[in-house]
Amino acid sequence: MIAQRTDFIMNTPVEQTVIGPRADTIAAQAATLLHQLERALTFFQPTSDIWKLNHSEGNAVKIQKETATILRAALHYSKLSASAFDITAAPLTDLWRQHGKQQQIPTEDEIKHCLSLVGAHYLTVTDSTAALDQQGCAVDLGGIAKGLAADACIDFYRTQGVHSAYVNLGGNVKALGGKSPTEPWSVGLQHPTQPRGTSFAALSITDESVVTSGSYERFTTVDGHRYHHIIDPRTGWPADSGLLSVTVVCENSMQADALSTAAFVLGLADAQHLLQSQPTQAVFVTDNGDVYITEGLRSRFQLAPDYNHDCYLLH
Ligand code: AMP
Ligand code: MG
Repeated sequence: MIAQRTDFIMNTPVEQTVIGPRADTIAAQAATLLHQLERALTFFQPTSDIWKLNHSEGNAVKIQKETATILRAALHYSKLSASAFDITAAPLTDLWRQHGKQQQIPTEDEIKHCLSLVGAHYLTVTDSTAALDQQGCAVDLGGIAKGLAADACIDFYRTQGVHSAYVNLGGNVKALGGKSPTEPWSVGLQHPTQPRGTSFAALSITDESVVTSGSYERFTTVDGHRYHHIIDPRTGWPADSGLLSVTVVCENSMQADALSTAAFVLGLADAQHLLQSQPTQAVFVTDNGDVYITEGLRSRFQLAPDYNHDCYLLH
């Protein structure tokens, strides 16, 4: 039996394919699980641990074990990426989000003020509590939560005896097993300048996650200039590192999610350096459309026949 369903969770369409007995029920239960995770982690609703933390005015708040785990992981990736990935960039991501809604950009003074509230040192996490040092500080898990959700979903399938499944949370993909015992899953990589659903390449995966960060995902246009949603926490402005997208491939989806956001901020050279220290493979698309892939993807990466840009192998 094959179950396929799409739900709207974490602000994104979530597509599941589950193969095996009771697939319908299992996919429905996984959707419930993802809704629960969203409620715990969302920036936008008072139901969440994150909301409570962001509105705690400097006091420690009680958090669930899962929230502590993701906050700690986020701090780890922040350190690893020299703060290119930084969940405490929330004052900035929120500033740009609010202005974006009005088709405006913030002033330099607003950006400077928010920059002064950003830094992993402001956040303290224990097994059951979290605290932000200063009023105005906040965290935003938008760059890592979908990865955690994909991991949770696949773990759940496994507990239900499923051997073959696939979940895609708006470009954050994770597969359990292959499509069949002899066939991998094929993941289309979103073309950075073509309508949603158009792939520029395909990648074969088994038991792995594929996560893309791209400037095309969410943006506002002001005076003919596009301002996208991935902020460089060091400058306070949307990252401008010469990339249109970065795709990270590895087993753990939370890791792939955090690292793809970090890699997008860092740009090709620094990202390559960071990713080499981790068990990951990657695909980069630069501003001019050229594609760079890491050695480990060579045999399972296929460029679309009509994609007219160069493709290079990274060593
Ligand atoms: P992603 O699509 O995974 O690259 O994540 C982008 C989302 O993460 C944004 O919509 C923000 O909510 C948040 N975000 C933006 N910039 C950063 C950053 N430098 N570090 C961590 N999270 C970020
Ligand atoms: Mg991410």
